Amino acid sequence: TRELVEAVDRVLTHADDVRRMRVRANADTAEDARRARERGAEGIGLCRTEHQFLGDRRAYIERVVLAEGEQARQAALAELLPLQRADFVELLEAMDGLPTTIRLIDPPLHEFLPDLTDLSVKVALAKANGEADERDVKLLAAVRRMHEQNPMLGLRGVRLGLKVPGLFALQIRAIAEATVQLREAGKDPRPEIMVPLVGSVRELQIVREEAEGILAEVGREAGTALDLPIGCMIELPRAALTAHRIAEEADFFSFGTNDLTQTTWGFSRDDVEGAFFADYLENGVLTISPFETLDADGVGALVRAGVEGGRKTKPRLHLGVCGEHGGDPESIHFFHGAGLDYVSCSPFRVPIARLEAGRAAAMAGDDATA
Ligand code: PEP
Ligand code: MG
Repeated sequence: TRELVEAVDRVLTHADDVRRMRVRANADTAEDARRARERGAEGIGLCRTEHQFLGDRRAYIERVVLAEGEQARQAALAELLPLQRADFVELLEAMDGLPTTIRLIDPPLHEFLPDLTDLSVKVALAKANGEADERDVKLLAAVRRMHEQNPMLGLRGVRLGLKVPGLFALQIRAIAEATVQLREAGKDPRPEIMVPLVGSVRELQIVREEAEGILAEVGREAGTALDLPIGCMIELPRAALTAHRIAEEADFFSFGTNDLTQTTWGFSRDDVEGAFFADYLENGVLTISPFETLDADGVGALVRAGVEGGRKTKPRLHLGVCGEHGGDPESIHFFHGAGLDYVSCSPFRVPIARLEAGRAAAMAGDDATA
């Protein structure tokens, strides 16, 4: 087996020499980051910060979102800052010297709020017993106000960031302060700030302006320049089609093929294992799930449009992909052909991605050693 391991390593090293695209990993924690690095990841292409708030920390986001009045919101945000700073210090330390794309929070809001039906029942029962809790009644009113029929098409990503003042700012400050802290310790943190679910250049412009202000302020106080790259996901058809505009405000794009597939086909990504979708595959209406392998004619055409638009405005715009397709062999060949600079995938898929990126370059006759 030792021989086998060595042989595999030799093949991967050869693929590394040949490939043009870089391979990064999707990782949310320092532990994932270390795992990815061991497998040869050359950076993090996507840290989903909303994952840092599932479990015990869910209540923090709830407090921020439902805060009544500016003072309450600021207090809720202030509680979050040290937690986020510590998350980013750990992550950036694990990825020392390598690019680390941190995506601003992108939760479908319902994941962070109490369930409307459960809460309604609880309050109704309590009222019937004449012992309704004032807090629950208020909470129910707030949850009802924010309730959406279709949360995945609603208050998510940049929309939530713009709707809840201070939420993105808090994360940007945490990234800036973590960077300063690590630099002062002699490290080389390389964070990149990524904005999710952008559909219009204006959304990115507003976030960018705020981010630049915070980076300048934290940098000035620490006596260091913080010109971190700021870019966005391209995961809506409109973003791909207006990429030339969006590129004016972006240092990089990362294609989110999960949402792009969902919104291009109109298939729910959360129901791909459901009866209707499975039937479609079983009966041959679809021969392969577009969520697994990139649909070159539809979703792929939008990726190409995004690449072309972005590079028309900025010929050297840095481009990657961080949807699940970033770890799918066939899709990796597509991304090579489309001219992306990197793919980002789950840590355990990094070796396969290195291999396929090498094969893609060799087969296209434009390998890096030629
Ligand atoms: C995507 O949409 O492809 C993506 C990477 O973002 P998420 O899966 O977190 O929505
Ligand atoms: Mg997405």
